Amino acid sequence: MSQLADLRAAVKLPLYMDNHATTRCDPRVLAAMLPYFSEDYGNAASRTHVFGRTTEAAVDKARAQVAAAIGASADREIVFTSGATESDNLAIKGVAHMYRDKGDHLITVATEHKAVLDAHHALEREGFRTTFLQVGSDGLINLEELRAAITDQTILVSVMAVNNEIGVVQPLAEIGKLCKERGVLFFCDAAQAVGKIPVDVEAWQVDLLAFTAHKMYGPKGVGALWVRRKAPRVRLEPLFHGGGHERGLRSGTLAVPLIVAFGEAAEIAVREQPQEAVRLLALRERLLKGLQGNLEHLYVNGSLDHRSPGSLNVSFAYVEGESLLMGISDIAVSSGSACTSASLEPSYVLKALGVGDELAHTSIRFGLGRFTTEAEVDYAVARVTEVVNRLREMSPLWEMVQEGIDLSTVNWTGH
Ligand SMILES: *Cc1c(COP(=O)(O)O)cnc(C)c1O
Repeated sequence: MSQLADLRAAVKLPLYMDNHATTRCDPRVLAAMLPYFSEDYGNAASRTHVFGRTTEAAVDKARAQVAAAIGASADREIVFTSGATESDNLAIKGVAHMYRDKGDHLITVATEHKAVLDAHHALEREGFRTTFLQVGSDGLINLEELRAAITDQTILVSVMAVNNEIGVVQPLAEIGKLCKERGVLFFCDAAQAVGKIPVDVEAWQVDLLAFTAHKMYGPKGVGALWVRRKAPRVRLEPLFHGGGHERGLRSGTLAVPLIVAFGEAAEIAVREQPQEAVRLLALRERLLKGLQGNLEHLYVNGSLDHRSPGSLNVSFAYVEGESLLMGISDIAVSSGSACTSASLEPSYVLKALGVGDELAHTSIRFGLGRFTTEAEVDYAVARVTEVVNRLREMSPLWEMVQEGIDLSTVNWTGH
């Protein structure tokens, strides 16, 4: 207990370990953005005066920074949007509507972000068909299943880079190669990937890629869709119609301050990615080893080998999920159940991995990030240990496990 008090004294509470949900805007990014709220307020489409030309140049610079962050050669291939949700919708619906003469079949994965899944559901209501690939207990797709799912009616395969709940990284280069061989477009939601793992549209042979500033220490409300312009030239039907901004793909006055910030955030994130990956991996290993050293019956959800460095999702057996979250309320994390809804629905991602409801309810997603310190990790280990131990002491199930009773043999009904 006194050890916990010492650790508590070394950190500022509450701790933020929910960097998959969003990240704090980096002070360098904020500084780059501020002038575009005050003196440099021109409309980037106003070519007739210096106000517009100044912001147009700032947008051009940001476009180049953002393109470079994903290994894209031509900056004309970036379409600025309001975030990854819009980019996901523009990619999936845009391709489906443009290529509907070629086919009506799309492929994606059961563990994708809601923006991707629901875009497919909307298209299904229009008559498109989607195959939702399942994943193994490691969270990864099976390439043979993908190969078998592609038909001559398939127009798009959508697979995310890094999963937002469990952090696993899909075999992107292999997926890209397969799609290329079969002449099918490949879209990747890389919202959780840029700045976390190397992202390269050529290495992955991807045709469209979505990402967003607020997951890489930029502001909320701005993102991008990269669209391949050569070999093949990908065409899209826009979601919005209007002034023809972004080559007609996304009408609407450009959000210059946010775009400038996105450019800066992307440049910093990719420049610092190699060192940051090493630092985050060390912190994550400290977190996992600390928890494993103190507690039994803890389960890591998803592959540890194919995983974004700052990401850890673990379930704690023999505790009650809500009590666990309440017990660690001074640490901001996410859990595997959607507590916002009246019914505690376990996460569909964990379900797809085959995690049972009980363990899904006690899962915690730790999202370590740029501002996470070793002291914070040590506090989190001590705090979670204390709460899990306390809850287990109150649990009759835990008592039976301690007495060596195999719970699977217990006749609960008493008949
Ligand atoms: C956060 C996130 C999104 C949504 O991004 P917004 O910019 O918040 O719309 C989409 N996909 C993934 C994988 C994400 O993590």
